[in-house]
Amino acid sequence: MTHFHRRSDVLHVEDVALPVLADQVGTPAYVYSAAAIRSRYTALSEALADLDVSIHYAVKANSNQAVIKLLGGMGAGADVVSAGELARALAAGIPADQIVFAGVGKTKDEIRQAIDADIHLFSVESQPELEAISQVAASVGKSARVALRVNPDVDAKTHAKITTGKAENKFGVEIGFAADFFTRAAALPAVRAVGLSMHIGSQLLDLLPYEAAYTRMADLARDLMRKGHALELLDLGGGLGIEYGADKAPTPKDYADVVRRTVGGLGLKLAIEPGRWMVGAAGLLLTRVVYVKEGSAKRFVIVDGAMNDLIRPTLYEAEHRVELVSGASETAQRPADLVGPICETGDYLARNRDLPLVNAGDLIAFLDAGAYGAVMSSTYNSRPLVPEILVDGAKWAVIRERETVAHLIARDTVPEWLV
Ligand SMILES: *Cc1c(COP(=O)(O)O)cnc(C)c1O
Repeated sequence: MTHFHRRSDVLHVEDVALPVLADQVGTPAYVYSAAAIRSRYTALSEALADLDVSIHYAVKANSNQAVIKLLGGMGAGADVVSAGELARALAAGIPADQIVFAGVGKTKDEIRQAIDADIHLFSVESQPELEAISQVAASVGKSARVALRVNPDVDAKTHAKITTGKAENKFGVEIGFAADFFTRAAALPAVRAVGLSMHIGSQLLDLLPYEAAYTRMADLARDLMRKGHALELLDLGGGLGIEYGADKAPTPKDYADVVRRTVGGLGLKLAIEPGRWMVGAAGLLLTRVVYVKEGSAKRFVIVDGAMNDLIRPTLYEAEHRVELVSGASETAQRPADLVGPICETGDYLARNRDLPLVNAGDLIAFLDAGAYGAVMSSTYNSRPLVPEILVDGAKWAVIRERETVAHLIARDTVPEWLV
């Protein structure tokens, strides 16, 4: 918790005390540490420094312009999965030739936008998509660089909802079809098949699935090269896990060792697409206690943040660490469920956590919420999207304004014939 620490018992993000942000911006709010993001990027890029590898930040983990810009400034490219993310990456100044585009359902319109921008690479997930890319590229007199996304049929041993590399998952093409794919690509007028890609899932805490998948990819790459296909690159995807709760995550060095051992000797350019790993531990959701309800079976701490702001606990059974912003040194701990105000039983942010006495008005932070937090939020129950704040040393700035209810209402239109 080096970028998140206590001074005189008050939780700070770098040099900024959270109560200051709560007073000035209100709650709930996401708060990110720029130094934490920088140190994550540096740690991973240093661990991989001896390998010919480019880092493409998976924008879907946190697509705020300031976050993308910060990572772009460190040298990261981007991994995008929609035209919206492509536009965001370009708007944040990521050079097009450092953008890779994945996703099973790219529409022709999205493909067109990516070809117009001259992106580095499409990760192609099916034969019909390959044909669509060739058609669109041909129609504008261009040729698109594509990598075949292979589904290595390896169990990532992560939550079922974020497992993507098993044969029954919708992602990628089976290994057995790869050679045929390259032959077909060679016959199409406006695509160049330059490599292979994969991504077996998210929040991987075990390196063995990586080892198995990368080994399969290496074997496949060698086989294709023997058959005369000119491969240039291997995109290894993202998925590196972080430490929520009591998790133990692999170190960048351990991960780099697996990369080196399995695919380091192929003579191919490598790419990785970390999302969560870059930003997950660099952010928290700051909330305020509205009520404390003592039940006979349980104590409920009702906070102003809810599942629409942070859906990970209820969607993935994720366990975010809970910290009282002040008063944490009290010794008497009692279990509590931390819930939001939404009319859903699934609206909780943490369950059965030991907490000291808390009172209405206290601030509570949910840690490790920098990835798949703000980006997955919704306005359910007509709750406006919450602000995002970036702290950098003693400086801080609101990097997304709190939405207003007026804005929510203004998005609707009532047909004339109804009134
Ligand atoms: C989601 C995704 C990533 C990033 O996953 P993380 O677990 O956040 O690292 C990388 N590549 C692709 C293709 C993805 O869909």
